[in-house]
Amino acid sequence: RAKNEGRGSIREFEPGMVLETRERGAIEIEVGRAIADGQIVPHFQPLVDLRTQQVIGFEVLARWPHPERGMIGPDVFIPIAQRAGLITDLTLSILRQACQVAARWSVPLPIALNIAPEQLQDRWLPEKLLGVLAEQGFPAGRLEIEITENALVADFETARRVIASLKNQGVRIALDDFGSGCSSLSHLSQLPIDKIKIDRSFVKSITTHPQSATIVSAIIGLSRSLSMTTIAEGIEEPALVDHLLTLGCDLGQGFLFSRPLCAQDTGILVQNLADVCGEPDGRATDND
Ligand code: C2E
Ligand code: MG
Ligand code: MG
Ligand code: MG
Repeated sequence: RAKNEGRGSIREFEPGMVLETRERGAIEIEVGRAIADGQIVPHFQPLVDLRTQQVIGFEVLARWPHPERGMIGPDVFIPIAQRAGLITDLTLSILRQACQVAARWSVPLPIALNIAPEQLQDRWLPEKLLGVLAEQGFPAGRLEIEITENALVADFETARRVIASLKNQGVRIALDDFGSGCSSLSHLSQLPIDKIKIDRSFVKSITTHPQSATIVSAIIGLSRSLSMTTIAEGIEEPALVDHLLTLGCDLGQGFLFSRPLCAQDTGILVQNLADVCGEPDGRATDND
């Protein structure tokens, strides 16, 4: 409500704003119900080895197929869930469902789960995530979490402990959207980070802007010297792949390879991978 803005405020009477506020309130209530009912579901986007073009895992991306509003993306409901204090419920629900989906794959590929910055301030996060893994019988070694640099600016020591605890129990750690937030390079060396995800804003312009290529090259050099893997986000054009390989990038992700897929399509994709790799019955490896 517009209470805080003072009684005489003109904004109070703008029809568009009232509608917006009412709509947002409705969505907030609905988001809570949607999480509880498992209506917000995981989709999966392939992570690809740039050299071999093999799928080496999937990023889990939350989607809300809304009965009336159509498909709602995380940019809409994640901030609402955060404001409503529901981000942990959402994360655990997405993880639980993703484990159930991934457990049925014909190849046990790893999954990467996004964690909101404030969740790294929750000292019980490791117990919560590992509790879901235990309940689902899903190995910690198949889970990677994606955190952002912004998660490290609050209470770094708490975040560091949460990350270290997860890492100690076999969960891998990826630094998401690298280069787009508040980086502190000193943090990098203090955390057991396995993978750096280079933000799409740099990746998309490496062939057209030499500065972007220089930045990407520097990020790759840095992560290599720290024994971390690099993955380029948002690859949409084939030309980027060769350029990224030249710069020494290991992995890629983007619409060029695949959009995020629903659980069913992901299962089919994984089955096709298994077929192409040649299962024991000897189905064709020599015709690709
Ligand atoms: P992100 O973690 O950086 O995820 C990558 C985003 O880039 C995804 O958007 C993906 O669909 C999009 N993307 C992938 N390839 C391409 C490409 O080639 N071109 C372009 N233009 N975009 C590409 P999405 O699914 O809308 O997710 C947006 C953000 O929402 C994610 O960014 C992540 O920060 C957050 N998010 C998604 N699912 C979850 C979740 O379960 N929990 C939390 N806490 N955050 C989530
Ligand atoms: Mg991510
Ligand atoms: Mg990202
Ligand atoms: Mg990004």
